[in-house]
Amino acid sequence: MTDMTGEQFGSGPPYSYEVYAVKYAERDALRSEHFVGGDPHDGPMPMDYYVWALVGPARTIVVDTGFGAADAEARGRRLVRTVTEALALIGIDAGTAAEVILTHLHYDHVGGFAQFPAARFHLQDREMAFATGRPMTRPFFRHSFTAAHVADLVLAVHTDRVVFHDGDEAVAPGVSVHLIGGHTDGIQVVRVWTERGWLVLASDTSHYYENMETGRPFPIVFDAGAMIEGWDRLRELADHPDAVVPGHDPLVLERYPVARPGLDGIAVRLDRGRVEAAG
Ligand SMILES: [Zn+2]
Repeated sequence: MTDMTGEQFGSGPPYSYEVYAVKYAERDALRSEHFVGGDPHDGPMPMDYYVWALVGPARTIVVDTGFGAADAEARGRRLVRTVTEALALIGIDAGTAAEVILTHLHYDHVGGFAQFPAARFHLQDREMAFATGRPMTRPFFRHSFTAAHVADLVLAVHTDRVVFHDGDEAVAPGVSVHLIGGHTDGIQVVRVWTERGWLVLASDTSHYYENMETGRPFPIVFDAGAMIEGWDRLRELADHPDAVVPGHDPLVLERYPVARPGLDGIAVRLDRGRVEAAG
């Protein structure tokens, strides 16, 4: 079996990417909010919000755009820094970034769209169909979308700023996207070649480590079957069990090494592997 770069799984291009997760927002929450059916041992389980970046010798690719002040206010989230400020901490200028992969179109992943005026946006066909079609007549499915952001993406289609993908496709050598579905109909994950092998940015196909590790879906879900089956796909795509990075888990900032001095609790290097062997 070969991947989209023509390489065998388990090998990759002759160079690797640095992969960063940078926190830009947070909210207080309870364990019972994060699992279908609740949790018998309820208690605090805060949520972090991240922007990710892949930095290679030839290109930098940003993954998702975060949200802005309006969504933070409307939805009661704490924006601790803008995504532009978050990326600047690791030396990336959002204003000139050329490539952005959008895992899906929920407000917390596309709401920072305007901070990337020079970018092309990589998106699954099915996510655009989902975000503009019949499911959006249902409040349950549209709740996590902000309609103005979806409209921004539609306008971007007409100015050649959206690159559509259908299933599993290469974005660049050593970087591919993979349709998973479940959380939204067209959510995709990002697979990137690092010095430790293939790493998978799971985004909201698993909000927390616990969702996929204990087999309990997050309650914001379009197709629970696709979400549950997707966890096996994430493990297949990654070279190590610790190389699947969930979308909103504060543990990410504890388990991976700090990206640069002074960025403790803010930014980590995912390509260097976990700080601790397990846990
Ligand atoms: Zn999210």
